[in-house]
Amino acid sequence: MTFNALLVEKTDEDSVSATVQQLTEDRLPAGNVTVAVEYTTVNYKDGLCLQPKNGLVRNYPHVPGIDFAGVVEESSDSRYQPGDKVVLTGWRVGETHWGGFSQKARVDADWLVPLPDGLSTKQAMAVGTAGFAAILAVNALEDHGMKPEHGEVLVTGAAGGVGSIATAVLGNLGYEVAAVTGRPEMADYLKSLGATRIVARQEIDTVSKKPLESETWAGCVDAVGGEMLARVIGQLKYGSSVAAVGLAGGAKLPTTVIPFLLRGVNLLGIDSVMQPYENRIRGWERIASNLPLEKLDAMIQPAKLADVPTLANEILNGQVKGRIVVDVNA
Ligand code: NDP
Repeated sequence: MTFNALLVEKTDEDSVSATVQQLTEDRLPAGNVTVAVEYTTVNYKDGLCLQPKNGLVRNYPHVPGIDFAGVVEESSDSRYQPGDKVVLTGWRVGETHWGGFSQKARVDADWLVPLPDGLSTKQAMAVGTAGFAAILAVNALEDHGMKPEHGEVLVTGAAGGVGSIATAVLGNLGYEVAAVTGRPEMADYLKSLGATRIVARQEIDTVSKKPLESETWAGCVDAVGGEMLARVIGQLKYGSSVAAVGLAGGAKLPTTVIPFLLRGVNLLGIDSVMQPYENRIRGWERIASNLPLEKLDAMIQPAKLADVPTLANEILNGQVKGRIVVDVNA
């Protein structure tokens, strides 16, 4: 039996090609659960994994795709039976292990979680790694004391994947959400998700000379990093926190320790890849209960496996709106 997968091959030292190919099951990697993948998605990291010399993929040929949702086909692990619906994010699947841009995947049972009640496999991938990281960020901020009555919460990179899910969840939880975007044409979309105010990217994407500015934000989900994160740290209210999720705007953090010392603010690191099982279940349950599904459906940009190379470039260029959902059987 053959199946389709997006195979990335090295063409020379500095370039790779990515094409949909028919593969046989004997090419699948080691693992104790084989999953018939239904949906996957294109995250920022997938964009990187389709680039040559990305520092993430070690061996070629490679099947990328850092997350997927589907149905168990075969399992030698007692936790999963054929027919069970499952979700996978993280564990370096799609980087060091073959991933979800495929009609079949073989993985370690420890990496899977059961599909949460109330979500379809398509909706789970509309959330995907980006949305899972967004909910981890909201959980971390609330675990550090953030409450709706404390004031406006900032979401950066708001029209992207992490930002869209964060905006919708925070809005649904009753927060006032200020959404930062570099694309003014996304204002209506962001308001429909739950943003109460739009902040133009250029208002906040350069470092201020002052280490402290007006106390403005009761919290922040940051997908951008770099100078924007540095600026946000100096604008946080006393004792509040920013959850650092991403680096779409840069990895350097040109800040000072002053906001930490004088305002007691917190910089919370968010990693979705190595999260323990209990946190994954907590995150997915919160997604299923706090993310309005009609808003999730409005974020979906449908795609096929063959579209992935083009979309991978678009996500690296910050041109994607919401969440790409790839139907691997289309
Ligand atoms: P997207 O490309 O969907 O969204 C990123 C958004 O950031 C863009 O849509 C754009 O939003 C904004 N942006 C892009 N470039 C710049 C720039 N130069 N300066 C300021 N803003 C910019 O990516 P995702 O939402 O999927 O991922 C966002 C980040 O989060 C990535 O760095 C990704 O690697 C990281 N991530 C981290 C995870 C973790 O576990 N920590 C898990 C998942 C993602 P707009 O147009 O609205 O301004």
